[in-house]
Amino acid sequence: MRLIITGPPAAGKGSIAPFLAKEYGILPISTGQMFREEIKKQTPLGLKLKVILDRGELVSDNLTNQMVEARLKKEDVKNGFLLDGYPRSINQAEFLDKFLAERNEKLDYVISLYLEEEIIIKRIVGRRICPKCGKLYNIYFTKPKFDEVCDLDGTALIKRSDDTEQIARQRIKIYEKQTAPLIEYYKQKGILISSYSGHKKVEDTFDLIKKQVIADDHNKI
Ligand code: ADP
Repeated sequence: MRLIITGPPAAGKGSIAPFLAKEYGILPISTGQMFREEIKKQTPLGLKLKVILDRGELVSDNLTNQMVEARLKKEDVKNGFLLDGYPRSINQAEFLDKFLAERNEKLDYVISLYLEEEIIIKRIVGRRICPKCGKLYNIYFTKPKFDEVCDLDGTALIKRSDDTEQIARQRIKIYEKQTAPLIEYYKQKGILISSYSGHKKVEDTFDLIKKQVIADDHNKI
């Protein structure tokens, strides 16, 4: 299975990705996560990336495409993958199509999440992450048992430096302009699955997605 999960910032892509990955036995690949890892290593490239991410802007298509291409050539994603946060522009989508076509591969589904802007803002401003195990929390919706500490390993939670209201609004604007056109692009290809993701529980969104995949597979038989 080759899947893409797309949607505005904080739509829940990163939370739903592990469910989808487990259900279909595929590896999740997050470009945002790849960039953040590069930043953490403090490489010259990482330092440049930090400036871009902190402004809420997009990394260039060229650099992003090259990085994804190298990742998708690895053995562990030969039989499938779940791309989270890529493609984010028509240019990236066309690049991916070409890359897959050359390998006689194709995408199965593009899962597009949508929700209200005000929920997005609260999710972003309240988002906290455990730097050790990666578990996500939100101080408004899914609080840790003890303030600002991970339930699983007791590590102090951190906030992403781009998770402020001002940058969030900027990221939403960029999403609408650059990424939202992908919805029509994949709809035309007949592989779009659209799902509301403003539910309180991630499991509810995941159930809705699964039902649509099953219904669509059934139609194809
Ligand atoms: P979110 O979904 O909350 O925006 P991500 O982790 O997906 O967070 O991305 C964080 C940042 O990484 C983005 O704001 C952008 O700067 C950069 N980024 C991630 N994926 C891409 C991409 N496909 N193309 C360009 N920039 C990207």
